[in-house]
Order: sequence, then structure tokens, then C-alpha cells
Amino acid sequence: MKTVRVCICWLLKLSGANWLFRHFNRHRVLILWYHGISQEGFDLLKGYDERHLSPSLFRRHLRFLKARGYQFISLDEYLEACSRSVALHKSVVITFDDGFQNVIENAVPILREAQAKAIMYVVVECAKSNQLLWTDRIEFWVRHHQSDTLQAKFSDGIVNYSLTTARAREIAMRDIKKRLRKMADRERQVTIERFAIPKESAAVFRIANFSELKNVDHGVLQIASHTMNHPNCANLRSEAEFNEEIGHSKMELQQVVGSQVRHFAYPAGSYNDRVVAQVKKFAYDTAVTTEAGFNDASSDPYRLKRVGTNGSFIMFQAMTSGSYFFLTQVLRRRKRGNT
Ligand SMILES: [Zn+2]
Repeated sequence: MKTVRVCICWLLKLSGANWLFRHFNRHRVLILWYHGISQEGFDLLKGYDERHLSPSLFRRHLRFLKARGYQFISLDEYLEACSRSVALHKSVVITFDDGFQNVIENAVPILREAQAKAIMYVVVECAKSNQLLWTDRIEFWVRHHQSDTLQAKFSDGIVNYSLTTARAREIAMRDIKKRLRKMADRERQVTIERFAIPKESAAVFRIANFSELKNVDHGVLQIASHTMNHPNCANLRSEAEFNEEIGHSKMELQQVVGSQVRHFAYPAGSYNDRVVAQVKKFAYDTAVTTEAGFNDASSDPYRLKRVGTNGSFIMFQAMTSGSYFFLTQVLRRRKRGNT
């Protein structure tokens, strides 16, 4: 499937469609969605979902955009331009989700070199307690499990996974995460504790701690909230939960960075009207989703769209031009029309 996507992206490039769409979308704001920037040659995550890109690929992204006349702006500048009805021309906002330490270590020098800036959405409880995100704990557990079989105990029974090949490990990892995602947050926490995952440190997955968040140059990397515990916000029920995840995370981060925390990212893209109302209530100015697309002055600042990134540079070219979205939308519409 990935090969098909890459071939389509080559066609879009060679046909000139990327150039055309880039020109057509030049007044729409591109919000790029990253997670981490790992060390060069790091391949632990190969075959996973490529959330951590290499420094050379990240540098290539920035150089590519710069060479095409893009300017790197902050969300504050985007809002300011919208409020004054100033038309933005080829503007990009760079975002990093989750708060990985490798962003500070590896991305910040590259951002500085390109005179760019970015915003990082931090999971406060992980930054505070030096805990990995639950998804990364599962990833590390399955990837490094010594035996060829793994037993996972869920509330509705035990599942045995075969780990004989890299592919089998990937399938096990995805299945465990899928089962855990269906659970309420508390049940998920209890289930993961029952797995008794060894407390090894996977440095590449480490979330930046408070001192690192405080000391990073906020002119290059702005700090924003990604909740306290990375819950699916659409599953939150009580006012106390909203206060904790959306309100308290903002307060804690403000104490760390010593300035206003104005921006929010919905974990796993999970939100609904009630969540949006809560984000507004706690006086955030924007919230980003995981929905794919571009933004302009008419976009809802609490439902901003983003463009995801992965290890393929040819896909990056097509996705940042808008040609890829156009094509996938047309294909989806045709498919719906045929059913
Ligand atoms: Zn996240």
C-alpha cells in the first residue's frame, strides 16, 4: 500500500500537479505535524509508523520549503494575521506532539539553522514523572521482549502473541494498542500495569522534563499543552476530568515556562463539541486536530487541520502542495458514489 502511495506521489510530482497545487494553495496556511527527530541512522522504529524522523530528513524538509519561498510562522503570528485580515503568503507552522526530548536535542539546532520556529505540545504528567507515553511503553515492551512468545492479560481474557519475526512483533504491537485504545483511560492504566513492563529507559522516547522545557529557547520552540495524561478527550465525562486535563495542564506549564500557554493539541485527534467548549473555557486561543488539510482566515481556530509527515520525502512534497489531498478526496468521493 505504501508503495502505491509513493508511486502516486511520483506521478503527482512528474506531472507538474504539485507545482500547480502549491501555487493554488499559496494563501492557505500549512501546519506540519511531527513527533520526534531521532538520531541519524536510528532504526529501532523502522516498520513502525515513522513518528521519529532523522535529522537529515527534517533538515531536507525545511530546506525544500525555504527554497519554494515559504516562511515559518508561529500560531500567534497566524492568529494575529487572521485578526487583522492580513493575507498570509506561503506560510508554515511546525508542530511537534507529545513533548519528546529529542526535539530539543535534535530539532532545535536545525530550526535555528533555518531561522525557523516550532511549537511543541507536551503531555505534562510524562514530563513531570519521567514516564514514557503508554503507546511507547507498549512499543518498547514488544520490540525488546526476549522470548518468541508474549502473553498479554486483558480484562476479558489472555491473548498469546507470536514474536518470531519483525512483522509478527509489529502485528502484536498494533493489536495490543488497538485493544487498549478501546478502553476507558482508567481501565487502560490498570491493564498496562498488569502487563508488568520492565522499567527500562528507551532514551529516544523520553519526554523532556520540566527543566529542559524551561531552559529551551522559547523563541525557537514554543511550549503548549497536550493534556496531563494524553487521554482521548472525547471520552472525558466529568468537569473534574476536564479541569485536570485541559485546565491544570495549562497552569502547570505556565509555571514552568513563565509565560502564557495559549495553544492546545487534542491527543490522538480525539475531540467533540464539548471538548472544544472546554478548551475555550480555559482560554486557549487555538487547538490543532489530526485532520488532514490546510487552513485560512475562515478556519475555526479550535479545529485547525494539519499535514502529517513520515519517512517519505516524495510524499512530503505531494502532501505539502495539497495535490495528494485533492486526489484522495476525489477517489474517496468516487468510491462513495459507487457504493
Ligand atoms: Zn499525542
